[in-house]
Amino acid sequence: MANATRCLIAGNWKMNGTLQESLDFVDDLGANPAPEHVEVALMPPFTLLHPLAFPFSEKDVRLGAQSMYCEVSGAFTGSISPLMLRDAGCHYVILGHSERRDIQHESNALIRKKLGMAWEHGLEPILCIGEHLEERESGKTNEVLKEQLSVLEGVEAGVPLTVAYEPVWAIGTGKTASPEQVKETHAFVHEELSRLGHDCRVLYGGSVNPGNAAELLACDGVEGALVGGASLKADSFMELIEAAAKLA
Ligand code: PEP
Repeated sequence: MANATRCLIAGNWKMNGTLQESLDFVDDLGANPAPEHVEVALMPPFTLLHPLAFPFSEKDVRLGAQSMYCEVSGAFTGSISPLMLRDAGCHYVILGHSERRDIQHESNALIRKKLGMAWEHGLEPILCIGEHLEERESGKTNEVLKEQLSVLEGVEAGVPLTVAYEPVWAIGTGKTASPEQVKETHAFVHEELSRLGHDCRVLYGGSVNPGNAAELLACDGVEGALVGGASLKADSFMELIEAAAKLA
């Protein structure tokens, strides 16, 4: 791992999980799922934030949301605000996930507004960036990442921030970037962040599972993982935490 920052294993449940399933998951996590050198966070759907806040805090698991709107309150049917997320006990909010960029057409301009609102309301954004397959194949990966990171231009140094590099072609597909691709791309992301005045943790995301976690987490410049599918079952999620703990 690149520096002394505590490695973060963050699970994004996406649109999965009933109340009962989530309470069973918490039971299955055991008493102390978060080892000393690994930070653990989970992002359940909005309906589960309040009921999970206390059980997660008892197990030292940080609560996060998968998205939010860029206003505090008002006539925004179907949206959720940063204030509501704080009220529900969230520490993190994922912004710029490729599923939001692609399916909900979220632009960099909107993501920039959301970042500002997250900081204003005491949330730590996990800013997701990543290229599509055709962009990688045409040699445009760094250009795409640079553009996505430009939302941090002019943002004061030291704000709470985590970045997740997630190649879109690796999300939910079972394909992962090779260790060489991960090292090379994380080096570029760290370099670009430092040019922008930010020295923050960079996670890798994209089909991380118990079989590949050790290799991916050991790559230079990787300080944790953002995980979808393998975070849905407590046993596979705990295997990822164990893989991170071994490297810490
Ligand atoms: C994600 O949704 O951010 C993700 C990386 O999903 P998966 O682990 O399922 O590829």
